[in-house]
Amino acid sequence: MKAADIKKIAVIGGSGMIGSGWVTFFLWKGLNVNAYDINDALLQTARERINGNLSYLVEKNIITEEARKKALSKVVYTKELKDSLRDVQFVQECVPEKYEPKQAIVAALDQYGSKEAIFASSTSGLMITEIAKNSKFPERCIGAHPYNPPHLIPLVEISKGERTSAATVQTAYDFFKSTGKEPVILQKEAPGFISNRLQIAVYREAVDLVLRGVCSVEDVDKALSYGPGLRYALMGPNLIFHLGGGKVGLKGLMTHIGTTAEVWLDDMAAWKKWPAGYSDIMQAGVDKEMANRSSAEGKTSEEISRWRDDKLLALLKILNKA
Ligand code: NAD
Repeated sequence: MKAADIKKIAVIGGSGMIGSGWVTFFLWKGLNVNAYDINDALLQTARERINGNLSYLVEKNIITEEARKKALSKVVYTKELKDSLRDVQFVQECVPEKYEPKQAIVAALDQYGSKEAIFASSTSGLMITEIAKNSKFPERCIGAHPYNPPHLIPLVEISKGERTSAATVQTAYDFFKSTGKEPVILQKEAPGFISNRLQIAVYREAVDLVLRGVCSVEDVDKALSYGPGLRYALMGPNLIFHLGGGKVGLKGLMTHIGTTAEVWLDDMAAWKKWPAGYSDIMQAGVDKEMANRSSAEGKTSEEISRWRDDKLLALLKILNKA
């Protein structure tokens, strides 16, 4: 199957944080979607979230009112797993982060789906080989890990299991690329994939700096978001270091700061288990940080999420991604 053959998608777990984002995204891109969740109440939540997301895109002039109405005509909400999997070319699974429910969706696709449909898990870091271990078609199983919120953030990490075919990876890559996503491919399985490993490496150091009394939670957040984070929105650490090296590039820069950075590395966190009580300390710090924000930046989680999405959309427009 080629990317252009993908016209209808099943989103499994469509009322969840990630599922509702994927449904929004696929509808926005003109695709047909079967949104599955386990009961009527959850389907109602899905409708509310997806309607809200699409209205937000209209409000921000990303899509027209006409496009919103057309998008809504392309979604079918169902609590029948069998129905949701029939006649789709692509399944975006968004059920809780455990092997059993994900393996159950793979089994259902084997039973009810077409012989070509690709199974793509939104897993944040589980192994595709294990998710697909009982599949009759493991060659068609991949990971397609989004970043929250999936309808706005362009990254999708495509990961493969031991038996995933190169053709499936290529079709998924071409498909996501055609929708405007920025897919990256893991050449081998790695728990946590690329982005979450980077995120957790930074977070371990953030926690350690606070626990050692070097800085507050608020200041560690500011140090990242008003410093390196601004550049990270435009380019990755390798290109940043390359530019930092001027004429001598990354290689030259590392001969200067490499030795100094080894002193820092020697002092940095290397622990493998979260320190006792750390989440209480970090939460208390976040609560203070939120209270210190201006009203324009928002003080509650809801207000801050809205502020984040407004700024994200502005940034995505600059990057020609919205
Ligand atoms: P969530 O709890 O918000 O949503 C899970 C959805 O799955 C719910 O709608 C629930 O009703 C449904 N569900 C539960 N059991 C089910 C079953 N047996 N069969 C079908 N549907 C079932 O979770 P989430 O945060 O949206 O995460 C979903 C997946 O996406 C996870 O694998 C997670 O790791 C991954 N992910 C999450 C984030 C994030 O920031 N939350 C980011 C990227 C990827």
